[in-house]
Amino acid sequence: MKRKVKEWLEDGTVDLFLGYRMNCGHPLPHCFTKEEIDDVEHLLVSRTRYSLEKIATHLAKRDPELKIGLLARDCNQRAINVLTIWHQLDKDKIFALNVNCCPSPIKPQADCSYMSGEQTSSYKVQVGIDNLMDIEKADDFSDQEKNVRWMYEFQKCLKCYGCRNICPVCFCAECTLEHKDLIGPGRLPPQIPIFHLVRAAHMAGRCIDCGLCEDACPMDIPLRLLYRKVGEIVKNVFDYNTGESSEQSPLSLLGEKVSLSLKPM
Ligand code: SF4
Ligand code: SF4
Ligand code: SF4
Repeated sequence: MKRKVKEWLEDGTVDLFLGYRMNCGHPLPHCFTKEEIDDVEHLLVSRTRYSLEKIATHLAKRDPELKIGLLARDCNQRAINVLTIWHQLDKDKIFALNVNCCPSPIKPQADCSYMSGEQTSSYKVQVGIDNLMDIEKADDFSDQEKNVRWMYEFQKCLKCYGCRNICPVCFCAECTLEHKDLIGPGRLPPQIPIFHLVRAAHMAGRCIDCGLCEDACPMDIPLRLLYRKVGEIVKNVFDYNTGESSEQSPLSLLGEKVSLSLKPM
């Protein structure tokens, strides 16, 4: 892998390579360049996860001609696909070096082992939403209980925006979550459930189930499950697997559905 990165930098395939290296005892994102090619020896492949593609999006915005290489786990690759569809990355200028983070080759969506094995505290099981719950189980609650449990989770929100800031597919120049007419400023928790439902709606056809938002959330709100539910609806209604391909836009599928539904009987 290090050899490949050096090769790409030296022959000009990429202008820079985004990966990880140890910094002050922590594995942190690092930008490897041809000028400091020996640093590539410090390239790290560990369980570290960060949205390198989000950094790539920022860099591409500043210089659209930049050729960017990056380490890509399955979730990174799905995000790259989505960002390509939404014209945030140019697929001719992005070079992913795929890392197999799980025992099998590129695993299907929503099959990440990263979150497994962590115990959820019992109060969440009793009154909130267990972060490890699957969609079917969360759907089994009555409507009233669902409402009470989700509102319990949402009211813990600190409005820190950590979930949005870490999210690889939150790239909007102006974020609705900061629009004062929709989400009133100066309130904690933010207006619920609107704050969370707005973001959930925006994740339709975008969320690639990386789980970083939930990792970032200081209040342990089960965001991944919420957006998985959104992804399930998108899959059921539009037969669209978010992030599976960089060719198929959810919008074109929506167009097909609309035109189909408008066909005369
Ligand atoms: S799981 Fe969270 S951070 Fe990852 S793409 Fe979905 S909303 Fe964004
Ligand atoms: S929360 Fe919605 S508006 Fe804000 S950056 Fe994400 S997708 Fe854009
Ligand atoms: S990271 Fe958690 S606490 Fe912060 S805004 Fe998002 S949901 Fe709220």
